[in-house]
Amino acid sequence: MQLDSALYSQHPSVSHIGNDTQQLLEEASASILYTAKRPEVVMERGTGMYIWDTDGKPYLDFIGGWAVNALGHSPAVLRDALASQSAQLVHASPGYYNKPMIQFAKLLTELSGYDRAFFASSGSEANESAIKLARKYGSIHLDGAYEIVTTIGSFHGRTLATMSATGKPQWMQLFAPKVPGFHHVPFNDIEAMRQAVSDRTCAIMIEPVQGEGGVHPADAEYIKELRKLCDERSILLVFDEVQTGIGRTGKLFAFEHYGIRPDIVTLAKGIGAGFPLSAMLTKEELNLFEAGEQGGTYTGQPLAMAVGCAVLGEVVRHNLPSQAEEIGAYIREELHSIAGRFGLSGIRGMGLLIGFDLPRPIGSELAAAALANGLLINAPSPSIIRLMPPLIVTKEDVSVMLERLTISLEQVIGG
Ligand SMILES: *Cc1c(COP(=O)(O)O)cnc(C)c1O
Repeated sequence: MQLDSALYSQHPSVSHIGNDTQQLLEEASASILYTAKRPEVVMERGTGMYIWDTDGKPYLDFIGGWAVNALGHSPAVLRDALASQSAQLVHASPGYYNKPMIQFAKLLTELSGYDRAFFASSGSEANESAIKLARKYGSIHLDGAYEIVTTIGSFHGRTLATMSATGKPQWMQLFAPKVPGFHHVPFNDIEAMRQAVSDRTCAIMIEPVQGEGGVHPADAEYIKELRKLCDERSILLVFDEVQTGIGRTGKLFAFEHYGIRPDIVTLAKGIGAGFPLSAMLTKEELNLFEAGEQGGTYTGQPLAMAVGCAVLGEVVRHNLPSQAEEIGAYIREELHSIAGRFGLSGIRGMGLLIGFDLPRPIGSELAAAALANGLLINAPSPSIIRLMPPLIVTKEDVSVMLERLTISLEQVIGG
């Protein structure tokens, strides 16, 4: 899509807030429970790589709805799937099978090589489900072992159990008492993991690339050793692929990079391409829940299932994982070309999950400058920038991104 990037490069930080937007912002600050620091813009519509605010200003979206809008904004396949499914059946109760539920489970198990799928609406729920299944396995096969070892810097969600699983140092004291049974060890440290595993352990849970933690990929050797350790101890290896799954890292699933297969994989974000949808995949031996032990009002929700089929179909049909691999490598190359000038370092990532380090803790300033310049980027921590654009991003989009990023860096860092 061709847009006039010059408009924002000339007067990058001038951003006029119209009366309607001003009113909306006042209403927002009066009525929405405060949980996030949000900039003074209200998003209104989107198409492809761009999203527009209520003042009509377009933004090139390299946050991609937080690694969610895999097919870009308002893709036709998603709209069509919602339109036709909503004319047919919106909701049937979780107590019944429905047709898209069966179709999506079949598609997802065939593409992943797993035997069983459970569906929910968010990544946290999929991870809760994995935690429950691991505990169930421990209760049946490991004499009641229920502890799960996760890694420092990991992010697994915002429910109480998934917050307890999360290895975010700032969260350790939050909302006490924590759900017991989680241990956190340094990431990419196999010795620490070996020492943390005991007779009380039922599983190891890990993100193949720590996303919220700042885009840190797991080493190939580490993952191989984790698989070996789990096999030796007969405990489960759980991959949280909420952020890395569905093509994001250059393969349909990130575990494919490592030549191993986890026992449980969780998926969300990209799988619904913007519609709330998550899944947990596992093998036949772990088909262990009794009726009623796991579920949810919206499990297998027909609209979500139809969207899942459409999104996955599109991702596979257009080979978006290999496109993510190619464009991701191109973005990292291009970032290297401006790195010296601004002191950027540690350019890293897999596919279209990319991170780099800033020379100073100016991440939020830089993200704010980029916003003013018509570019959405994310600072997961004060000195790190993360890019996670839709999988449909093109080289042309990348040059607009670089142009706006360069201007923003000039404003914030100088150089
Ligand atoms: C976003 C994320 C979650 C939480 O997903 P929600 O849909 O916000 O509940 C869990 N794990 C990882 C790796 C994530 O990136």
